[in-house]
Amino acid sequence: MQPIIGITSSMGTDEKYYFVSPDNIQAITKSGGLPIILPYLSDYLQINALATKLDGLYLTGGGDIDPIWFGEQPHRKLGEIVPARDYFEIILIRRMVELGKPILAVCRGCQILNIALGGDMYQDIYSQIDHELIQHEQKAPQHHQSHHIKITTDSLLYELIGKSRLRVNSRHHQANKKVVEPLRVSAQAEDGIIEAIEGNGERFMLGLQWHPENLVAADDSDSLNIYKGFINACIAEKSEN
Ligand code: MN
Repeated sequence: MQPIIGITSSMGTDEKYYFVSPDNIQAITKSGGLPIILPYLSDYLQINALATKLDGLYLTGGGDIDPIWFGEQPHRKLGEIVPARDYFEIILIRRMVELGKPILAVCRGCQILNIALGGDMYQDIYSQIDHELIQHEQKAPQHHQSHHIKITTDSLLYELIGKSRLRVNSRHHQANKKVVEPLRVSAQAEDGIIEAIEGNGERFMLGLQWHPENLVAADDSDSLNIYKGFINACIAEKSEN
């Protein structure tokens, strides 16, 4: 049985085209999911109908997030935002959580998951954190694992890969700040930047600040195990209902 996985798409501020990296699609198909790319719906009833059809939600990376969602004015270093995307993803996340369906989120996805459930974030880590930070916007090929993260052993992420230290790629200038229930932090970089968040254990909910899809494309088995865990959770959830 192949669970249907909704994959969020990106769009430029010209609002002309939807796009998504094929690495995201392949990571889902390689691990047994049936992917469909999602457009930005604005009607609540349609978003609700979509949530009931999906077996799992995969939130991809992309641009920045409108700080209005966590009660802030735009910081000078805030990058491009597409408000229609933020709205669609936040409403869909909340509905998927209410329905108890699995969610895997990467990069921007890790932040929008946190925002949708009541957390907040740094609009620009380099100007909003006063201690020295490592390079999180790597200038290396996408699949290069440039920095380490430390993973809490009592976590879903640890369960999936069985390692408390991992090297990940890194292409972000934003990061989560306050993480609130039902989410918790499960990995951090050595400078304290939050690199993974997850749910309280009842349902598969995992947000990763890096891009595991590029690592799957480079045949990294830890990354593939993360996707397989997600797809297996979708299959288990589907067969329960
Ligand atoms: Mn990073």
